[in-house]
Amino acid sequence: MTAPAHLEVSDLTVRYGPLSAVRNATLRLEEREMVFVAGPNGAGKSTLLRAIAGVIPTARGSVHLRGRRLTGLSADRIVGAGVNLVPEGREIFGALSVVENLMLGTYLRRDRAAAREDLDWVLDLFPALRPRLGDSAGLLSGGQQQMLAIGRALMTRADLLIIDELSLGLAPMIVEQIYETLLRLRKERGLTFLIAEQSFARAVDVDARLILLNTGSIVRDGRARDLARDEALEQSYFGMG
Ligand code: ATP
Repeated sequence: MTAPAHLEVSDLTVRYGPLSAVRNATLRLEEREMVFVAGPNGAGKSTLLRAIAGVIPTARGSVHLRGRRLTGLSADRIVGAGVNLVPEGREIFGALSVVENLMLGTYLRRDRAAAREDLDWVLDLFPALRPRLGDSAGLLSGGQQQMLAIGRALMTRADLLIIDELSLGLAPMIVEQIYETLLRLRKERGLTFLIAEQSFARAVDVDARLILLNTGSIVRDGRARDLARDEALEQSYFGMG
């Protein structure tokens, strides 16, 4: 028998009223993989990610984490199982301080001392946040807010991070820094990533697997570098966003 995947999504369908925003999606992520989901506006990227994280209900299909069924569990139980969503728009609490936002990631944890250690760890990963700890999070730049959102997700002790539109609206240099940190987390801590981006340039850059969505369906799942060589795909998707 093969080992269960870190994440296994089978035949997932998500509906908003009569609209099937995601249709029969099946995908598998192994431990320590960084997999990208790309596709045009409205393709269903956010819907797929949100459904995996249990933030929105699914109409059919299932999600398993290392063989354990997540489908039907509350979003809190899914966080407790080690899955965390960094949502599009980041959902930082602008009126709270940076440290308060980070500590929100620990609300389900009982290990207070370890949580304090993790705070130090997150601040080492994102040193730009350290001098801003007492500032209102709303005062941070977009890039710092993305670091904060990822830091908050790490504070939950998640080992599967699902990040929606990571690069949206951010300066390329900041995006570069954030990806360097994520690749380090994968290498040093064995984290697994599922990341939505409008463009698939980053997936090509880090030589990752890419899942292409179009109008709610997975149309390709393969090595980004191979997909990028496909001229028809290139014409319809490449260089977008
Ligand atoms: P974007 O890049 O614009 O964020 P996306 O690929 O993430 O797009 P989704 O946001 O998942 O796509 O949207 C998929 C489809 O579902 C779109 O047709 C969208 O209009 C629709 N949709 C998304 N959220 C809702 C909602 N809450 N109620 C009804 N329809 C929705």
